[in-house]
Amino acid sequence: MTFRSETSQVPSIILNDGKVIPKLGFGVYLVPEAETHDAVTAALQAGYRSIDTATLYGNETEVGQAIRESGLPRDEVFVTTKLWNSDQGYDSTLRAFDASMERLGLDYLDLYLIHWPVEQADRYVDTFRAFQALRSQGRIGSIGVSNFQRSHLERVIGETGETPAVNQVELHPSLAQPELRAFHAEHGIATEAWGPLGQGSELKDPTITQIAREIDRTPAQVIIRWHLQLGNVVIPKSVKPARIQENFDVFSFELTLEQMQIISALDTATRVGPDPDVFTVGLENA
Ligand code: NDP
Repeated sequence: MTFRSETSQVPSIILNDGKVIPKLGFGVYLVPEAETHDAVTAALQAGYRSIDTATLYGNETEVGQAIRESGLPRDEVFVTTKLWNSDQGYDSTLRAFDASMERLGLDYLDLYLIHWPVEQADRYVDTFRAFQALRSQGRIGSIGVSNFQRSHLERVIGETGETPAVNQVELHPSLAQPELRAFHAEHGIATEAWGPLGQGSELKDPTITQIAREIDRTPAQVIIRWHLQLGNVVIPKSVKPARIQENFDVFSFELTLEQMQIISALDTATRVGPDPDVFTVGLENA
């Protein structure tokens, strides 16, 4: 079962394993369980064909329900979930995957990500090996990582001989991650941007609002377009149907090279989320 990109309005990119992923998806971090069904339904109705959830988000059940109830064939929606930190390790990963699939109510996952490296636990290489086993059983299309720094990627590649298909990292104009993106490009790893709007913090930036006014677009559309033109896969979140639609309407205009450069110059290497080198939440329950 492989995602069929030709059925979607969203352009896709080809991953290093030959599978395809839509360049624009819908994220559901901090979408409460009670609102997830409606938000995912609104996204699918707007035309999104990729949904990004995680065990941590506590809404896999509602994501799966909305996908099933949409009536869309399974191979027209690209589904991503993530293994939580406390489940890292070979056997615990196999169990956690089964539990996620049970909640999602799906028998096949398009993309499974290791949520954070948690170097301190020293289990992400074994975790990735369990991902490889699940993929060889035909239960996952693509396997990747999230919040991995260059050193973590080098270790996975060196010890397993396989390059993750995707690294989903915090990325927005204030944290443009040029070195990591260059490393990804060199190794054929797709860059997926989480917090693409800086979790909302970038939307009032005067440079962004100025460009938005100039081209008669919204700040969110300008930033999402910047991601797409950089080559990122991008997964903005909203619970508001009008914003869900607005964030999808990004395929009928382009930023000029100059506008792209102006936005890229906003990079101050400033995170809104945790530093992946020291993030160990969940480890206490492992
Ligand atoms: P985003 O950068 O997508 O920003 C979401 C915020 O922006 C919300 O507060 C939303 O509010 C607001 N917003 C969205 N669209 C608009 C708009 N058009 N106009 C005004 N405000 C808007 O942050 P996220 O952290 O949600 O990142 C996106 C996705 O990335 C997540 O949902 C999740 O799937 C993934 N992620 C992954 C992480 C990881 O560790 N791998 C970590 C964090 C996120 P409202 O909902 O009220 O519209």
